[in-house]
Order: sequence, then C-alpha cells, then structure tokens
Amino acid sequence: MSDFVMTIGGDTVPAADSFGVVNPANGEVFAHAPECTRDQLDAAFDSAAKAQRDWKLDEAARRKTVLAMADVLFASAEELAPILTAEQGKPLADATMEVFASGMWCQYFANLETPPQVIQDDEQAYVEVVRRPIGVVAAITPWNFPVLLGFWKIAPALVAGNTLVLKPSPFTPLSTLKAIELLRDVVPPGVLNVVSGGDQLGAWMTSHSVPRKVSFTGSIETGKKVAQSAAPDLKRVTLELGGNDPAIVLDDADPATVSRAIFAAAFNNNGQVCSAIKRVYVPESLYSEVLDGLTAEAAKVKVGDGTQPDSKLGPINNAPQFERVKELVADALSHGATATTGGAAREGAGYFFEPTILTDINDGTRIVDEEQFGPALPVIPYRNVEEVVERANATHFGLSGSVWGADADRAAGVASQLECGTAWINTHLALGPSQPFGGFKWSGIGIENGPWGLAEFSEIQAVHRSRVADGMNMGTAGIYS
Ligand code: NAD
Repeated sequence: MSDFVMTIGGDTVPAADSFGVVNPANGEVFAHAPECTRDQLDAAFDSAAKAQRDWKLDEAARRKTVLAMADVLFASAEELAPILTAEQGKPLADATMEVFASGMWCQYFANLETPPQVIQDDEQAYVEVVRRPIGVVAAITPWNFPVLLGFWKIAPALVAGNTLVLKPSPFTPLSTLKAIELLRDVVPPGVLNVVSGGDQLGAWMTSHSVPRKVSFTGSIETGKKVAQSAAPDLKRVTLELGGNDPAIVLDDADPATVSRAIFAAAFNNNGQVCSAIKRVYVPESLYSEVLDGLTAEAAKVKVGDGTQPDSKLGPINNAPQFERVKELVADALSHGATATTGGAAREGAGYFFEPTILTDINDGTRIVDEEQFGPALPVIPYRNVEEVVERANATHFGLSGSVWGADADRAAGVASQLECGTAWINTHLALGPSQPFGGFKWSGIGIENGPWGLAEFSEIQAVHRSRVADGMNMGTAGIYS
C-alpha cells in the first residue's frame, strides 16, 4: 500500500507495488511510495506526448498555468514542508523556504520574455531566430533539494512548450509526488507527470524512445551513465552534477566575518548542497583565527530533528550518505588530520553527524579531493595566491568557488582565474532564478536558470522569409546568388 500517488495523465494510477521511505531523524520507514512499472512509465510518456500537441500551441496559456502553479505552491507550503522535513531531514523552516522558492521559480519563468531575434531585415529577406519546444522532457532529481530542483526543471520546461515526466530520488519522492498531485487543479492532464521508483526507473527513462530531452541533477557517476544512455538517440541533455567548491580567503580578509559566512555556506542543508563550500584555503597569517572562528560556529550550531523549532541542521539524508561521510572523516583522521570539533556520528537513532572542522590536512586527502556532501569541512593553509588558485583548479570538479577579501577588486581578480560555473566574491551560495547555474568540467553540461536555462528547453529555429520574387536568394554564401 502506498501513502502517496503518482500523477499520470492528470490522474492517480494504482500502485502495484511500493517502497518504504525512511525518516533520517530516526532511521525508520514512515511512509510508502509507489513503485512505477515499465507499463506505467510508457503511459506517462504517452500522455506527455499527447498533451504536448496542444500545450505547445498557446504560449499565453502556458505562462498563465505556470503562474497559477506558483500560487498553488505558496498556498500548499504548510502541507508540503512537513513531508519534506520527514523524508529529507532539513528543518521545517528550510523546508518551507524550499517550497516558497519553488513558487518563485515558477513566477520568474512564467514572466520571462524570449522575443525572437531579427538577424536580417532587408530587400533580400526577413530572417528571425525563434525558439521551438523540444518535445517531452525526462527530468530526474536528487534528494538534497527535491522540490526546488524539480521546479528548476518543471517551470522552464513547461513555459518553453514541452511536457514532462519527473522522477524524484527514491530517498525523497513524497514531497514531489504530493506537490504534483496538488497541481492537478491547475495543470492540464498529461502536461506534468510524476513517477516514483528506484535508480532502474531513471535508467528506463533516459533510454526511453519518447523523451527528446533529459534534464538530470545528481552525481557525476550517474550523470555519465545518463549521458551514455541518451547518446544513441541523440537526446538533448542537461547535467547538473557534483561539486567540490573551494573558498579562498585572502590575507586582507576579516577573519571573524569570513568564518561566519564560510560556515553558513559550507553547512547549509547540512553540507548537502552541490555548490556548498567543501574545502577552505586560508593564508598562514590568518589561519589560526579563521580555524578558531569556524570551530566556534560548528560547536555552537544546534543539530537535531528538523521538526524541532530550534534545530538549525538536521540529520544526513540517508544511510549510504551517512556511511560515506563517516568513512571520509575517519580516513582523514587516520591520515593525521585533527577534528577541532565534531569528528564522529552522534550516538543514538537517526543519521546525525557532529558538525566537523578538520585541520592538519592537505590536498591529497580523500575528503579534500572528493565531494563529501555532508557536515565536515577541511581547512587548509597556503602561502601564495598563484599556487592556491592552481590547487583549487587541480580537480575534475568545476561547479563554483569563492574568494574572500577586503579589497573586492583584488578578490574578483583571483576569482576570475577559477575554473567553475559560478565565481563568488565575498559570498557563496548566492543564487536566484535569473542567475545562470552550471558546471565546468565534470560538474556538468548545460545551464539551468535565467534565459540560458529556458533556452536549454528549446531548439533554435531560423525562420527565413524570402523577399526576392524568384526565391533565388539562397543566402549570402553566394553559391546561388
Ligand atoms: P544520484 O546520482 O545517486 O541520483 C540522482 C537521481 O538519479 C536519483 O533520482 C536516482 O534515482 C537517479 N538515478 C540513479 N541511477 C540512475 C541511472 N543509471 N539513470 C538515470 N537515473 C538514475 O545523486 P544523489 O545522491 O541523489 O544526489 C547527490 C549528488 O547530486 C551530489 O553529487 C550533488 O553534488 C549532486 N547535485 C548537483 C546539483 C547541481 O545542480 N549541480 C544539485 C544538487 C545535487
């Protein structure tokens, strides 16, 4: 028996089977989600394909629908946030913010104009470049921001004239299933479908013959599989993948200020953010002050069940990720690192890990070189800026990074040398619907958000209207003219 339902063709489909969803605050299954069968996935793609025939024709209606979706999300925040907290672990206030942000993304894309570009208007021809929908989109999301990252895809995909089948992570399917069930009131049947299941369901989606585009957010390892699976059919892909963001503190930074801000950006969502700060480089002259500042922040932050109003950080989301953070911290400690605070899991039920600051550590240690995606932060000393930029870039990751210093122009100069999709100066994690987000290197392919993100859900079409009577103006290349 499933407690939540899939939406296919605007309706509930009966679940033949279901899987348990665990509350990470106590490690116990608290609800069940439907296990989508292959036939049901076919039905979801079929209904998306049928719905797209009309959906692509009326841009004004699409914008109106996506605006109405925002209103439903705002009105449902109180219903959705507790579900999100129960399955993801994040504090209720953060869960509520996530639902509100999803509504804001809908509003932004519903209002984002994409006028055609006229590239020729003379006696020969009138030529404009327009955007056309791609078709049906297969969207796959991770467990860290299940609702928001779903709407990063849904809002632009629908505005651009596509229809969509979405699969949330098996660790956090419930808030997405419920959100889309609530949206049935305002979205035409078939336009927005949601299915739930394990990783195999994701693989079925990316190799399915109907979708023309895969929009994926998740790990690098899975992203590579998605790219391979989409390639034989030449499906368009957007891949938003993992990061190992460096923060570089310059020697004119104020240690107290940067410690607070870097802590907030490293431990947001308990460190489970693709673009969280995951390694901090500090000049030797400021090292002990910044280390002390970060340690003090980590020691005082309140960790607990997300339903408790004073909890600032919840548990790690799931057992495999909990094991991974434990393993990476233990590996660092066994290689000579010291935890100035934390360093271990908390005794008792749930996947709680003490916020951890690591010193006596350098590049070459797994937790510095790999993506920890959890509440443990290595703090690494450096001597000169050129060398630290090289170390920051010496990785397959390239999602984002930040540089901190009193002289913002100097910091911006250093930031300009970072090989990553977002370079922040004196901040980190500042994101919004209009700001493009994507990764260099293995951190991704393509962009989400802003007009660039909207464009990724469309194909360019050149519309060339001849003004020559005999139609023999075959371009400026000159072969026929
Ligand atoms: P994951 O790759 O394990 O899973 C992501 C999704 O892919 C899930 O829905 C999963 O069921 C599905 N999946 C698994 N195998 C698949 C396959 N073979 N084919 C198709 N789909 C498949 O990632 P995760 O553990 O859920 O999320 C954490 C990762 O996501 C981290 O690396 C994090 O950095 C990254 N992430 C990136 C961004 C970004 O925007 N760049 C945002 C959030 C998270």
